[in-house]
Amino acid sequence: MQVAIITGAGSGIGLGTAEKLAAAGIAVLGVGRDADKLAQLDHVVPPEQLATLPVDLTDDDAPRRVIDLAVERWGQIDILINNAGIGKPKPVHETDDATLDYVLALMLRAPFRLIREALPHMRAGSAVINISSTYAIVGGIRGGAYSAAKAGLLGLTTHMAVQYGPQGIRCNAVAPGVINTPMTEDNFESETFKKMNDHMTPYPRLGTVEDVASTIAFLCSPGAELINGQTIVVDGGWSSTKYLSDFGRSSKWVAAES
Ligand code: NAP
Repeated sequence: MQVAIITGAGSGIGLGTAEKLAAAGIAVLGVGRDADKLAQLDHVVPPEQLATLPVDLTDDDAPRRVIDLAVERWGQIDILINNAGIGKPKPVHETDDATLDYVLALMLRAPFRLIREALPHMRAGSAVINISSTYAIVGGIRGGAYSAAKAGLLGLTTHMAVQYGPQGIRCNAVAPGVINTPMTEDNFESETFKKMNDHMTPYPRLGTVEDVASTIAFLCSPGAELINGQTIVVDGGWSSTKYLSDFGRSSKWVAAES
């Protein structure tokens, strides 16, 4: 049985991914701070395939505790999914040092340290998936520390691919656009937010946990064996377009081009 560590597994994308991997027969070690949230995993992962660890990933000893538990329980690590994160980013001029340090600690330092601890236990055929964001790829308004951390993950991903690919260990990133999860649920109460996404997304619906979890599960599967060092963007084309506002679509100049 393959073994996956999923951080931020008690909700949203992490929970959806745990369900997908468990259905494929993969054991899951789910990590997050809140034990009640992690208890959601009981509904989607069979007990013999499940372990959980409530821990704050910014703690110095967290990565070692996570890896030790996986190795004690199953003796191997095949998949590491660095997914835990926090939203509500601020622009640079509103970001104090404490916020900057916390965001980088959770979304860049912790993934780096988890990878470092996991590598000695990973065999050929193993995979690391880093959950980044379109905010690492396009200039996200209010991005600040969040964009910096998520872009750092992409650098880590390409380094990993080159350095450990020869050992048969792959590393890829997934960059979701706006996905309806607990992280974004407040935003979905705003008509302006919904309208903005509608206007900026070529594909005619917003993203779901299922969209991202399916992509992660594919990257973990044998079918993705030759995919290494890539970032798969899951955003309905949000980051690929230039002209999708009502104004853009109806403007004479764009219309003349089409
Ligand atoms: P979510 O449901 O809020 O999930 C985030 C998870 O991270 C939670 O389960 C949370 O669990 C865990 N977490 C937060 N701080 C932690 C800490 N210090 N230590 C350990 N665990 C911690 O949101 P989501 O949308 O699924 O987010 C998953 C990932 O996707 C994030 O990295 C996010 O940046 C990325 N992403 C999301 C979107 C989107 O639109 N939703 C878009 C782009 C990228 P606890 O509270 O129990 O710790």
